[in-house]
Amino acid sequence: MIHEIAPHKLNNAFNVVDPKPNDFVIRYDGTKTLLKKTASGQDGSPTAGYAIPRVGELLALEGKSLTDFKGHYLFSIDDTAFFLDDSLAGQSGAISGDDRAVQIPAGFEYMGSRTFRSMNPVERMGGATAVHIAHWESLNRFCGRCGSATARGDHERSIVCPECGNVVYPRISPVVIVAVRNGDKLLMAHNIDNPNPRLFLISGFVEVGESLEQAVHREVLEEAGVRVKNVRYFGSQPWPFSDSLIAGFTAELDGDDTIHMQKEELSEALWVKREDIPEYETDVSISCCLIENFRRGFTLDSDA
Ligand SMILES: [Zn+2]
Repeated sequence: MIHEIAPHKLNNAFNVVDPKPNDFVIRYDGTKTLLKKTASGQDGSPTAGYAIPRVGELLALEGKSLTDFKGHYLFSIDDTAFFLDDSLAGQSGAISGDDRAVQIPAGFEYMGSRTFRSMNPVERMGGATAVHIAHWESLNRFCGRCGSATARGDHERSIVCPECGNVVYPRISPVVIVAVRNGDKLLMAHNIDNPNPRLFLISGFVEVGESLEQAVHREVLEEAGVRVKNVRYFGSQPWPFSDSLIAGFTAELDGDDTIHMQKEELSEALWVKREDIPEYETDVSISCCLIENFRRGFTLDSDA
């Protein structure tokens, strides 16, 4: 899964430190991140890929030195830090398309967060997590209570209002995902918003006032029209692409297996026999881990 980067280690403790030339820099415009095009994929594949720029490299391209760097420390992986570039953070917190075009160095491009998924484990986890923080900061430049300009907290990862004292912490929205088993069949679905055409599992955001388990029962009933029992926790993962923390569960069909698909959310929902499920890569998402867990015929326990 995305956070499993051993032997590398994430240090996400709040800190204020100076940048080094070899540290990564995230320049985020509110929706996309400035990335460097690479001649070949980072895993050695012949297709072109993208990499996260380094502080020194970006400064050199812009004729600046390390003392000119405008940015703040986010976290480190091993000895390399991730910095968020503050040079685009104007009063409005947004830049026009024209401004952005002027500031793009040759060989660089603004890309959506999905691009991190094709990078090596360190840049995938670090880049996506840095953008999770950058997105949160971009949404909180002004206080939601009194409208004053906010500032970053100086002793913890927070945004504070100097006028009214309002404190905002990073937005982490809980999501549940569930592998529903019906004998040797698995409930699989395709979300209409997912550009990946493969079948995945039923998932959804937890609503106010419900537990993770209640969210599982509700989401399966809403999206597939079936009831479940024996809901059991499988594991969890951060999912920075949707500012989320995903909790994975297994469950068994309870009663009628007739699927009534929610057409506003899904384009497909069906029972798929174990032998008809293709192999899924388990290096990024818990969804694929749950599917593989079923496909390989393990029991409902995650560590079986
Ligand atoms: Zn305020």
